[in-house]
Parts: sequence; C-alpha cells; structure tokens
Amino acid sequence: MKNYKTFDECYFSVENRTEYLDDIIDYVKNNRNDLGKYKNYIFCPECKIAELSYVHQTSQRRAFLRRKPSSHHSQNCSYNFEYSSSEFSKQYYEELNSNQIQDKMNSAMRVLFKNEDGLDRKNSIVNNTNNEENPFILKIENNGNQIKKSLRRKNLGKYLDKEEIEGQLHLFYGEVKLSTSTRDFEKENNKYQIYFLNIYCLNKKGEWTKRTSIYRGTINDNIIKDKIYKIVAVGTMDFSKGFPKLELSNKYAILIREK
Ligand SMILES: [Zn+2]
Repeated sequence: MKNYKTFDECYFSVENRTEYLDDIIDYVKNNRNDLGKYKNYIFCPECKIAELSYVHQTSQRRAFLRRKPSSHHSQNCSYNFEYSSSEFSKQYYEELNSNQIQDKMNSAMRVLFKNEDGLDRKNSIVNNTNNEENPFILKIENNGNQIKKSLRRKNLGKYLDKEEIEGQLHLFYGEVKLSTSTRDFEKENNKYQIYFLNIYCLNKKGEWTKRTSIYRGTINDNIIKDKIYKIVAVGTMDFSKGFPKLELSNKYAILIREK
C-alpha cells in the first residue's frame, strides 16, 4: 500500500477556487500531456498551504495528486495525521451522543459545501479553526494520550475506484438525488419495514445514475423525488455483492440537507 496521501481535489490558486482531479486529467490529455496552467499553482484543498504535484498516469494506474515532499501542511490540516480505520471511527462515534455526531456532520458539511471560492489562504476555514474543531480530525483520549486520525474524503459524484476505496473508511459527500426503497422484515412474529436510501449522482453525460445505497434500518428518510440534496456520510463502501453499498460507521454519521 502506498504510504503517502493522494488528493481528488485541490486548491487552484490562480483562479482562487477548488479544482477536481477528474478535470485536471481531462485538461492534461487535451494539452499534449502537459500540466500547463496548473503547474506550481495547485495546493492542498484543506489548508491551501502544502503544494501538490501531478503524477502522470501509467499503463498500471490513473494519474494522481500528491504533496511535494518539500512542502508542508498547516498545523491544523487533517492531512498531517494518519487515516482513520473503520474500527477507530466506530470507537470515536461510540464516545459521542447522537447530537454531538450530528454537530460533526454539520461542521463537515459547512466546510465541504460552503463556497470557499474567493476565500484566500488566510481566511480558509481550516486555518481559522483550531484542530479540536476540524471535522476531518477524529480524536480519542487513551490513558491520557490523545490519538488523532484523519478522515479520507470522497466526492460521490467523481470517479470511484473500487481498488482504492473498498473497505477503507471515508467521509463521502456530494450533491445528489435520493430515493428510498423498503423491504419487509419479520422478527419474533412482528412485522417491520426496513429502509434503504438510494443515492444518484450526475455523470459526465448529464444523467443521474445510481451510485450507492445505504441501509437505514427502521429510519425512513423523508425524501422528495427529483430534489437535489447535499449529503455527508461516514462509512465504508462494500462491493461484495457487486453494486457498492455504503455501510455507515454509526447510524447518526449521516446528514442530508436540501440544496
Ligand atoms: Zn493541508
């Protein structure tokens, strides 16, 4: 396994906005394999301080972004810490109550969806909060020691590489359409309905296609068909039945808001 972190999106300083790896890959293809306008102007999407380099694709793997070894993240950037395992996140959420978990989800949603475009580095949300409040850092106290881990994040609307994400804890997010489906379930002569939340994302052709579904137990999310929602959810993607199913780290580790 590679021992460095890769980035699906970055801060593009020339235009003072977020840019996605998918779009950089398309640009490079159309620019005679040259990084062109991005060269020396792409940075960590979170702290906007660490400079990134673009590693070109080979026959074996897709192109990716990584930190330049000579450049460093700001102190409060979650990319300083090792990625959290799903076991660590389960333990972390178990020590919080449902309101505290929802607060974390709210805070992650604010950072991920707040249009930071136009905000310079000094005003970046992460550099302005201490890392106690950074929603991408999970912290557990262990015999007086603090253990901090970082949450990988993945935009559901972008390229999902099974090899890369299978079984690895992520905070998944995106602008999505939703639907619910139900299944009848019987236990000790009582009949229940269990619910699944289906998530659709816009593909490059402009079509809403189903990306994943989440088992919700007895929770029936109040969803309006064809509305666009913002979603954040922490968990792991299970591909064992072919179609990816998102298993939440905790049943409260999900937040849905109308766009
Ligand atoms: Zn950073």
